[in-house]
Amino acid sequence: MANLGNPKETIAILNKYGFNFQKKFGQNFLIDTHVLEKIIRAAEITKDDLVLEIGPGIGTMTQYLCEAARKVIAVEIDRNLIPILTNDTLAEYDNVTVINEDVLKLDLNELVQRENNGRPIKIVANLPYYITTPIIMGLLESHVPLASITVMVQKEVADRMQAAPGGKDYGALSLAIQYYARPYIAANVPPNCFMPRPGVGSAVIRLTLFDCPPVEVRDEALMFRLIRASFAQRRKTLINGLTNSPELSFSKEQVTQVLTDCGFSPTVRGETLSLAEFAKLANAFSVL
Ligand code: SAM
Repeated sequence: MANLGNPKETIAILNKYGFNFQKKFGQNFLIDTHVLEKIIRAAEITKDDLVLEIGPGIGTMTQYLCEAARKVIAVEIDRNLIPILTNDTLAEYDNVTVINEDVLKLDLNELVQRENNGRPIKIVANLPYYITTPIIMGLLESHVPLASITVMVQKEVADRMQAAPGGKDYGALSLAIQYYARPYIAANVPPNCFMPRPGVGSAVIRLTLFDCPPVEVRDEALMFRLIRASFAQRRKTLINGLTNSPELSFSKEQVTQVLTDCGFSPTVRGETLSLAEFAKLANAFSVL
């Protein structure tokens, strides 16, 4: 039975193994059973699922995942945590594999082929905040077969992922996420639910992956270059953002012409454009 999600049990394990938290690995362990239950509910795990957990820590959430899923693969970078997981907190589960590796170095496409015959897996994690964006964008851009990603992230990052056009949180991350997945914030989580307490608020966000993107784009890479250029200089007009970007080589005349052809005002700002509008722009630029 899952039994770690409280301060007393967590402290007992940490003392038993003389474990010291490593700040460089973003270690903030969950100590609240309500939050753990909310994450598991939001992830909608069934006994058919293969779940990949990034950063199991001492195995607090892993225990819940082992009870809900068919199989769990837990990837942990800190080798000091491996004996705790394999000899103690996960010892009673026969449906978990612990891998001591940096998740950013793992070939996840190969892992999904090998472990799940290429069928989509679910990712569940209380992510180390120092690498939230590289982990999530890496997963999405490498086209690993995924059904969903349910993760604890910094509250501010969850807000940016879910933001709609025009608001202060809307940006390149919102568009990149929303091209691949439908975001849903399942819970806000205060610092006192973790040990040690992080200096920021957190949120659980579920990203449900689309079977195919919600917009048709001829050249995805070009669309993302346009998006980055539009938000690199948020205060500038779209014409200036696209003309000044080192990633693009269109002349001011070309940019002005495309914006007019697509029906945008010459003073429009990138931060007001939807994903569908960026797709329309990208398709127009791609035939220049
Ligand atoms: N899942 C545990 C929990 O909820 O209590 C721990 C979460 S803690 C926020 C993040 C975990 O990710 C830590 O155990 C840390 O060592 C691990 N981690 C950090 N960077 C990693 C990486 N690049 N690859 C795999 N695990 C990593």
